[in-house]
Amino acid sequence: MSIAENLAAIMARIDAARKAAVQPAPATHLVAVSKTVPESGIREALAAGQRRFGENRVQEAGVKFPSLKSEFPDLELHLIGPLQTNKVKEAVALFDVIQSLDRIKLADALALERGRSGRMPRLFVQVNTGEEAQKAGVPPREAGNLIAYARDMLKLPVEGLMCIPPADDDAAPHFALLLKLAREHGLPNLSMGMSGDFELAVRFGATHVRVGSAIFGARG
Ligand SMILES: *Cc1c(COP(=O)(O)O)cnc(C)c1O
Repeated sequence: MSIAENLAAIMARIDAARKAAVQPAPATHLVAVSKTVPESGIREALAAGQRRFGENRVQEAGVKFPSLKSEFPDLELHLIGPLQTNKVKEAVALFDVIQSLDRIKLADALALERGRSGRMPRLFVQVNTGEEAQKAGVPPREAGNLIAYARDMLKLPVEGLMCIPPADDDAAPHFALLLKLAREHGLPNLSMGMSGDFELAVRFGATHVRVGSAIFGARG
């Protein structure tokens, strides 16, 4: 199957999942996760009409995307991996959406960079729904504080929540928790669901699903 065929198949599955859902989000956007994918693969997806892409490393995205972004002005680039404060300047310049805001210190660094550059990507707060020690994300009980600080105090454009459930868990309770937190805090967007579980995420109201290997093939 080609990348274009894979994309069409995923879109059809998202549509079908939306039709089967009791309360789907108003729209569900496909973020094509292109980490480790060479520029040729990204170009195939662009030729098929895909415009939202996700990368998990600032440095890799900084090599692949600047020229593609000038060629395709409607390309929307999402950072879906952890962000170190020393990469904030580069990330703010490159990404349209940062999905990995997970701590006060990073919110401060983003606000500082907004002051310097006048630019600020849209933001999602990443929640560590499984409370895994090695995983990025704010613990669920601290999410409210971080949202209040970033959105209400610093006036950063926080518009949603993101989660990566533990690999071995049933994802459903994690998606349900993210939905509950988003509702409690009045956030419209939910980034959840990957190649193996995006249809389930759609059923829980995902506005953004992040799909990599089902589009581009298994990573090396
Ligand atoms: C790699 C990655 C994905 C995509 O995973 P697939 O299983 O290849 O679809 C989604 N979200 C994040 C945060 C990732 O790092």
